[in-house]
Amino acid sequence: MEFILTGATLIDGNGGAPLTNAAVHVQGDRIAWVGSAADLPPEAQAAKQYDVSGKWLMPGLIDAHIHICYNGSESVFALLEKHRDELVLEAVDICKRTLSHGVTAIRDVGGEQFIEMSLRNAINRGFIEGPRMKLSGRVISMTGGHAHFIAREADGPDEMRKAAREQIKAGADLVKLMATGGTATPGQDIHASQLTVEEISAVTEVAHMMGRKVAAHCHGTGGIRNCMLGGVDTIEHGTYLDEETADMMVENGATLVLTLGAGNPDLESYPLSPVQQADAERRKPMIEQGIKQIRGTIALARSKGIFLGIGTDAGGNPLAPHNFSMARELELLVNNDLTALEAITIGTRNNAAVLDMEDDIGTVEAGKYADLLLLDADPLVDIRNLREIAAVYKGGEKV
Ligand SMILES: [Zn+2]
Repeated sequence: MEFILTGATLIDGNGGAPLTNAAVHVQGDRIAWVGSAADLPPEAQAAKQYDVSGKWLMPGLIDAHIHICYNGSESVFALLEKHRDELVLEAVDICKRTLSHGVTAIRDVGGEQFIEMSLRNAINRGFIEGPRMKLSGRVISMTGGHAHFIAREADGPDEMRKAAREQIKAGADLVKLMATGGTATPGQDIHASQLTVEEISAVTEVAHMMGRKVAAHCHGTGGIRNCMLGGVDTIEHGTYLDEETADMMVENGATLVLTLGAGNPDLESYPLSPVQQADAERRKPMIEQGIKQIRGTIALARSKGIFLGIGTDAGGNPLAPHNFSMARELELLVNNDLTALEAITIGTRNNAAVLDMEDDIGTVEAGKYADLLLLDADPLVDIRNLREIAAVYKGGEKV
């Protein structure tokens, strides 16, 4: 496959000013050349050209925190009652939908019965359509810990090591821990730490030995502190980050993966089912508190220079459907005082680094996969224009 897209305004993902009248030369599944259309090299000019003037071209979005095996509209307990095949078939549809919304790569941080591994393999072999995937397998929690109903429960360093190695054996690209309580588990205190430094260190040691990063779900400050002492690479959510733990993150070179939509569910744009209404009612005080808290957390993280990633947590609870959730996530970043360009950079280039794929995806540059999003309207003028999708390309193939 070889073609050239010309005339669009290019937002390349690196955070610089957009380039008008750009050209992107795609050869095979990679970008061969990118620059001003006027400078197109003579040897490229034989390739088929598509005039996309009046449109905006950017890297495919990357969702750094998603749960692809859960639909995000029913309770997890109801989903666990279903036959595995039913979950598989729905997940196939979710993969397709995620890609069609411009998300060309994801990091799944909590799967189900290793269905996500089969999805990844099927996508890589071309059997089904979906984003590129990095996967954690099952989350690891303490006995009775956050999301214990879907977790590999483990207690003590030895069991934690074994639990981590089981995920890697099953094909995990990273390991996911539950270091504090969570709102999706009824009756939990999100400030309570759920793993000891010893338990966390045991996991990071064996995961790092095998070249895998460790991600940890954290709301409370104590959990973030334990994770930094235990060598965790990415803090997921990070709601109650404070000055001390922010400094520890900087010291460790750790990443904060924000999940704003999960803490600020969209309760207006679609009719809520009774299950969703009940969930919204139960979590209302935590949601209100979290929305207040997260603005300061984002400002603190930025002032300290913590590396930021972003994810939707789509599928993570009954109020997190897979429905333009990444576009909404970037809208929420803008609502929290970032520019649209900063939000897009986090959702593309930064997230590529969170997935350990920065050499292959995340920006529109020569040598990278041709994972591209073509928009009908300017996302820098209004970030909601990320929903105005003209075309999505993954590895040079139009979706
Ligand atoms: Zn999650």
